[in-house]
Parts: sequence; structure tokens; C-alpha cells
Amino acid sequence: MIVVMKPGLGEDAIQKVVKKLQTNGYQIYQSKGVNNVLISAVGADKYDYLKQALEAIEGVERVIPIKVPYKLASRQFKQEDTVIKVGDISIGGKQVQVMAGPCAVESREQLFEIAQIVKESGVRILRGGAYKPRTSPYAFHGLEEKGLEYLAEAREKTGLYIITEVMDPRKVEMVAQYADILQIGARNMQNFPLLMEVAKYDKPVLLKRGLSSTIEEWIMAAEYIMSNGNSQVMLCERGIRSFDDTFTRNILDLSAVPILKEITHLPIIVDPSHGTGKWRLVAPMARAAVAAGADGLLIEVHNHPEEAVCDGPQCIKPRLFNNLIQEVKKIATVMERT
Ligand code: PEP
Ligand code: MN
Repeated sequence: MIVVMKPGLGEDAIQKVVKKLQTNGYQIYQSKGVNNVLISAVGADKYDYLKQALEAIEGVERVIPIKVPYKLASRQFKQEDTVIKVGDISIGGKQVQVMAGPCAVESREQLFEIAQIVKESGVRILRGGAYKPRTSPYAFHGLEEKGLEYLAEAREKTGLYIITEVMDPRKVEMVAQYADILQIGARNMQNFPLLMEVAKYDKPVLLKRGLSSTIEEWIMAAEYIMSNGNSQVMLCERGIRSFDDTFTRNILDLSAVPILKEITHLPIIVDPSHGTGKWRLVAPMARAAVAAGADGLLIEVHNHPEEAVCDGPQCIKPRLFNNLIQEVKKIATVMERT
């Protein structure tokens, strides 16, 4: 619930409310509205029980319930958009941020070549998996720490920021030493121990939508990270399972973008590569995502997609990638972004 205090009160009145809420098991987040102090209380379910008692405290203007199950992620809790800082860039601000690179880090040479292409396009964030969640236990599972070292080296060389996936709660500490942004993959969206572990680090988290997750389940997963202490969460739409996989690997749910913009304050990223599984569909859906209001894109790029060890059919080649970046820039301008 949110307790709206009357304007111009001293600390005493606020502390009375805070104490009442804390003794009832709530976590408190205080913020300043235009005129009023807002005390947001999260973690217990006692609105009906406490409303009257709180409104009887001097200085309380009104008490509003947060009716949705997600609290910290809701627009009601925080009206202004969350802007996440990564070095000298922001995600969720005016600039549309692209994160691009191969599905997997395959070798030092491969990563460096692609990093150079990404750098020259003007994009600021390099992606690449060192730990790969694969359907088959016999498939390539990534170069692990060696892959992280290559990513860090690529950052040194190019100045690009690094996003990479972490799959195992026991590896978060190590991955966080290399990465600028931690990625939680679709298959781990509801891996609750992992969500709670990434919450312990001062690193932005990109949380992908689960393969068959509802929007509410997805936001609740974000709520796990936020309620455990890390509010730097961005949501990534990457397509969901449906009945028709004849032409696409997944169904990219672009309606999720405006929906999430309305009900949460978190940055929204769209991944048309996994969302469609087909390189020809990546550019059109990337353009559509920016037009729908996405704050960023996650794009798989490969210099030799036919030889890629992972997700080759959805990787775009450098020339198409450069065209795409130019197109996205134009659409961003129409959307009054950069
Ligand atoms: C990836 O980004 O390479 C990946 C495995 O994505 P997802 O978790 O969306 O399948
Ligand atoms: Mn991939």
C-alpha cells in the first residue's frame, strides 16, 4: 500500500507511520512526490486491517492499496521510468540501446571480429554467451570462464560494455566480475534461487521472458530480484511458445511492450533474434519493436552464420546489421528518441 502524507510534515509524523508498518511486517520505501511524502509499504498483506488505523495517525492524507501482485515493479509504486546507468550510457532513457553480438562466444578471433563490427556500427553493448543453455546435453555449452575472459578482453579493446548470461546461482559471483549486465535466460526466468542471487550484486539484470510465461509471471520474477535488493532490472521480450512454429521459432509478443510500459516503470528490451528464429525477420521486427516503444534491442550478429555453433539461422550478417542500425535510428527519431 502507499501512505500519502500531508505536505509540510516533520520527521515525527512520518516515523509514526513507518513504525506502524514495520511492526506489521512491511518493508518501507520512502519517496517524495511533488508536494507529499509517499511511504510505500511492501511485503505483507494487511491493507484492510491497517487502513483505518493508519488514516487515524496525524499527518496521513490517505492510504492507497497497490492492487496488483507486483509492487516494486509497478507504475503505481514508481511513476517515472527507471533509467539504468551502465558506465556512460543509460538504458530506459531517451536513447534506444542496442546490444549485439554472437549467440555464443566461440573463440577469441570470432568474438574480436564481431566486436569490431559492433563497435563500428556505433552500438555500445556487446553480447555473447559463455554459458549456454542448450536443449541437448551433447551440444556446445559455451567456453565458460575462458569465454568471459575473451569478453572482458573485447571490452578492453573496444570500450564496449558486456552483457552475458548467467545460469547457475553458484556462478553469479564469478560472472559478475566480468559482465556489465547479467542476463537471465528464458529457461531460468523462474529459477528463484538464481533471481535471488543476482539481486545481491550491484549489476543491472536483463530478465528474459520465460518460454511460456504470462506477463504477470514475468513481472513477478522481476519482483524477486527487486525485493531482494536489486532494482536495476530490465525486461526482455524474446518470443513465447505457441501452436504455429511453421514459419517462426517463437511468437514475438510486441504487444508486451506497450503493456509493460503502462504497468511497470522498468526498461523494456526486445530480442527479435530469438523471438523469430529467422534472420530475415530480425530487421522488420526490430523496427517494429522500436516503433512500439522498446527501450532497446538484443540482436544476434555473426560474421559467418552458416558456421555458427549456436543459433546460426537467426544471426544476421554485418552488412544487414549495419543497415538495421541505420533504420532503427530513423525510427527512434520518429519516436522522439535517439
Ligand atoms: C540467448 O540470448 O542466447 C538465449 C539463450 O536466449 P533465450 O534465453 O531467450 O533463449
Ligand atoms: Mn542465441
